[in-house]
Amino acid sequence: MSKNPWDRSPLEVLRAGPEFDLASFDPSSTPGWSDDKDDGTERMAEQGARLADLQEMLFAEGRSGGTRSVLLVLQGMDTAGKGGIVRHVVGMVDPQGVDHASFGKPTKEELAHHYLWRIRKALPAPGRLGVFDRSHYEDVLVVRVENLVPPDVWGGRYDEINDFEAELVASGTSVVKVALMVSPDEQRARLRERLERPDKHWKYNPADLDVRAKWPAYREAYQAVLDRTSTEIAPWYVVPADRKWYARMAVTELLVDAFERLGLRWPLADFDVDAEMARLDAS
Ligand code: AMP
Ligand code: MG
Repeated sequence: MSKNPWDRSPLEVLRAGPEFDLASFDPSSTPGWSDDKDDGTERMAEQGARLADLQEMLFAEGRSGGTRSVLLVLQGMDTAGKGGIVRHVVGMVDPQGVDHASFGKPTKEELAHHYLWRIRKALPAPGRLGVFDRSHYEDVLVVRVENLVPPDVWGGRYDEINDFEAELVASGTSVVKVALMVSPDEQRARLRERLERPDKHWKYNPADLDVRAKWPAYREAYQAVLDRTSTEIAPWYVVPADRKWYARMAVTELLVDAFERLGLRWPLADFDVDAEMARLDAS
């Protein structure tokens, strides 16, 4: 498989535009893809190799004074597969080039600062692929649903987040935002598996069921995020996540595209290659 097997570009079909409606979104669908899982897995391996090359070029650029980076922002309910994206997609590139951060409940110290404080500290260094497993969006998701701050406080954060991301992009960080959407039924199956298998108990948190019970409120909060923060410079891609192979393949494509748009080139040698070759031969 070497010609592009997508019926429609994942960038087009997954991007959350102004009309995007979560209520009518199907988490078990495979937008733009009519081939089967085996074809998807094959495509993912090919694009994964491409991703690894591109990431190495960005790393090389960073080592040669470049300041650009790529940031993958992952959001999604429990069991949506954020960890699987990190392991199976980001896992295809050299770990030396990755800056990974996951954001849980803020610590006492973090709470004493502005909510973007811990986010800024975790931004990718030049030349790196940054990955956020949860992000500043928790500050308008769980925080909104659980009323952790008053509405006028979280209400002001959408514009603030847009400004923050505009600043990031202007400073050379490409931002790829992915919302993984799992269906309630698939989430039940995945939570059941976590309960049935002792090797998965560590992933289970009894509080996950309390979050699950608030599904409609989370859907509303996610819809607001997509309505208000899917911008031209940092759009959201909504990825159906009931089929893990599709979600992983789609995110691989989104990353390859982000890297390709950088127009990366191998840095030129800052030494005389022929002269060094001659010295080597003489040594
Ligand atoms: P997990 O991703 O399963 O490790 O869970 C992390 C938990 O931290 C989730 O329940 C998140 O909703 C929660 N969390 C992340 N960021 C925040 C935040 N800013 N305020 C409150 N809870 C948060
Ligand atoms: Mg969890």
